[in-house]
Amino acid sequence: MDPVDLDPLVPSHPSEDIPVARRELLKNQRVPRRDRAWVWWLLAAAGLVSAGGFAAWVFFRPVSTAQETGTQETGAAAAAPLSSDTLTDTLSTSAEDIPTLLGHRQYALANPTELVPFSKNVEVKLRPSAAQKLEAMVAQAQAEGIQLKAISGFRSLEDQHYLFFDRQAELAQTPTVRAEVSAPPGYSEHHTGYAVDLGDATQPQTHLEVSFEQTPAFAWLQKNAARYGFELSFPKDHAEGLSYEPWHWRFIGDQQSLETFYKE
Ligand SMILES: [Zn+2]
Repeated sequence: MDPVDLDPLVPSHPSEDIPVARRELLKNQRVPRRDRAWVWWLLAAAGLVSAGGFAAWVFFRPVSTAQETGTQETGAAAAAPLSSDTLTDTLSTSAEDIPTLLGHRQYALANPTELVPFSKNVEVKLRPSAAQKLEAMVAQAQAEGIQLKAISGFRSLEDQHYLFFDRQAELAQTPTVRAEVSAPPGYSEHHTGYAVDLGDATQPQTHLEVSFEQTPAFAWLQKNAARYGFELSFPKDHAEGLSYEPWHWRFIGDQQSLETFYKE
């Protein structure tokens, strides 16, 4: 077995919660802002005419389109009627605000001093909320005859540097190919302290392998992990282009963790 976690670590992009057809629409709408200025005036005029006094302030932060247009756009607010067009543009702006690299979403690193080691494998560290639930989950699984093993938790930038750049060089891969199975430093869910790779202690040959899905541990997780606030980050029916990782689970059981992975 490969000693390193070859886990693809493909972060969940927020747009994956948007239906595919709509995502394509958003993608196609990334046009220079100056080209759609007239649309705003048209929308604003329509809003005044239909005038139920119904308008919404839509705020814009600096967006990446400034690079495309070469302008020094610093953000603006526009009054426009609340329409599906407005909503679509707001979603588009939000998606552009989230930094991604080779398809991976950027994550802030957890403070290492706040992490808690997992009792059965102190190398695996998680944020306190996630660690507490993991302990409870593993204990309950054990009570039901299931031997869950925590393989990997928090990772530093240095850890991820090794997994991405060093392995890329060893395997003579291009960045694009490497990114299919690993995230660049700064772009892994493991940086958050909420993600954990789990295995079945009785079947080590399935660790970090898709075959893990055939183990009793995986079946138990599928049935019970949600009770402890854990979900699969990259399930089988995930959006196209993201690898299936039955071993990679993330904690979304409190406000901060939920916002970490779902906020747009
Ligand atoms: Zn993982």
